[in-house]
Amino acid sequence: MFGKHGSYDAIVAGAGVGGLTVASLLAHEGLNTLLVEQADRVGGRAMTLKGDEILKNGEQWYRAALGRQYTWLAKSLPDFREIERLELLRGYQLDIGYHGVALNGRGYFYDLDRIIGSGEQAGVEFVGNLNSTYIDNECYSDFHAGKMDPRIKAIVKETGLPFLDFYLAPLSMTSTDYDSYERVSVAAWLREKGISQNRILYEMIHSVSTLITTINDPEEISIGDIWRYMGEILNPRFSKGIAQWASGFVKGGIQRWMDSVADRFLAFGGELLLETRVREIIIESGKVKGVVLEKTHEEKRVHAPIVVSNIPTQDTFRFAGREAFPGEWVTRTERLRGFGSIAPYFGLREIALPKDQWNVGVKDTMVIPRGDRLAHDVYMCWNIQSQSDPFCSPDGKHLMTAYAPVTEDEAKNPQLMDWCCDRIMDYLERRYPGFRETVEWALFPVSWRLEGVAKDINQAGTLKSPVRAPDVEGLYFAGDTVRGYGVAMDCACAAGLICASMITGKFYGVS
Ligand SMILES: Cc1cc2nc3c(=O)[nH]c(=O)nc-3n(C[C@H](O)[C@H](O)[C@H](O)COP(=O)(O)OP(=O)(O)OC[C@H]3O[C@@H](n4cnc5c(N)ncnc54)[C@H](O)[C@@H]3O)c2cc1C
Repeated sequence: MFGKHGSYDAIVAGAGVGGLTVASLLAHEGLNTLLVEQADRVGGRAMTLKGDEILKNGEQWYRAALGRQYTWLAKSLPDFREIERLELLRGYQLDIGYHGVALNGRGYFYDLDRIIGSGEQAGVEFVGNLNSTYIDNECYSDFHAGKMDPRIKAIVKETGLPFLDFYLAPLSMTSTDYDSYERVSVAAWLREKGISQNRILYEMIHSVSTLITTINDPEEISIGDIWRYMGEILNPRFSKGIAQWASGFVKGGIQRWMDSVADRFLAFGGELLLETRVREIIIESGKVKGVVLEKTHEEKRVHAPIVVSNIPTQDTFRFAGREAFPGEWVTRTERLRGFGSIAPYFGLREIALPKDQWNVGVKDTMVIPRGDRLAHDVYMCWNIQSQSDPFCSPDGKHLMTAYAPVTEDEAKNPQLMDWCCDRIMDYLERRYPGFRETVEWALFPVSWRLEGVAKDINQAGTLKSPVRAPDVEGLYFAGDTVRGYGVAMDCACAAGLICASMITGKFYGVS
């Protein structure tokens, strides 16, 4: 029988970033905590798969591993069987998607790491990178640590437009200001300030906003959510010298950070069950009582007065009876929308990108024009990840990773996604003539939930579900679908800190 005990102080369902954050903090406070994960490793949507294990276990295994993380394989080049036959993935390490870490790990990850001794404290290495944006055929450096691309500086001087306000406005804002801007879109603000009159300045801010939120259309992106992250995390951490990079990658794959948190959880006496599903959250008379676990054909009830669900909140009612919650809340929660993404990997024989882009994140808001098939022009961001993390490709080869946001519905449309994958290849060939020839293999996973709850003007930040379930004592939520701020993984970590704080009564730096 699996699981050491029949009862615990707390049970956490799902070992994604959010679940790992909460479980490790609860165990750190001495709570006897059980963490249950359906996959064979921790990390959730941010896990790493080795190319060798994909080859060993085969296509169905790979597709199932992706499927558990709301992701499917839309296309492969060459055909997947050919990739297997030629063993093209040997020596590669693939994060489930592109997994750039906000602030190079010095955001909410850093706060958790300092409390429990995970991440950098445990030897996990982050490698930072600068970012840049293509507008037509010109590539401009993003505003970084007070430095502006000289061409952007010249436009700002010439037009007198308040471009820098986007970055500096949060310096004088309070929490109430962020709340009030949550329903204001980036596009509306750019119009109000006149910045939309200049396409280059507009697109520079559009591209950074999409990088932070994974939403293509600036009319939808919540500026308040971005400003809260800038005002509370980004700006103070840059000015205090805690952060030096807007983004980065973990050397050896994002799994290293996930494993470092899981290791601390175990060291604090926590119990981790892998390949085990939570089938039901038991609720009786308005109180949570525990969960029903399922492993292969066995089933077990385990009891706890506290249950944290790290499963995206929209799916809560697959595990817990909807009649236990207020009807209005159930309806709203089920309707929360995420944002999907095509997240291609390219195994490269050589790098066709200009050398000054080898260590830089590059992006473009017009990779696939919307035409009449897409909700909005599709943006894409890409890095030669192996330049930051030499462990992710074999010697002499390179790994390029990217992500291109699409709506949940678009992400679930096989024909449309197949067409989009071809357009991405066309774009890269146009952008870097000869690119196609350098590609030894390419995989195009598509996730319909890169961002669990899209940070749009109807549901960002404080408009998200709270971490404490309404009307059910002892039930909490964590992860990127509930209240938390910042870029996806960091947002899931923030929600985990907020959730743990509600349970332990201690303040972990964010509320
Ligand atoms: C392709 C792709 C690319 C991405 N790129 C980036 C990026 O560059 N930067 C970034 O910051 N973020 C990125 N993200 C988003 C990031 O991965 C997520 O925001 C973050 O990992 C969410 O963590 P979470 O804890 O909220 O949820 P999840 O990771 O979804 O965790 C939920 C966990 O619950 C488990 N689970 C589900 N049901 C059950 C059950 N019944 N019983 C037991 N366990 C269960 C799942 O297996 C999973 O481990 C990307 C995501 C994808 C899919």
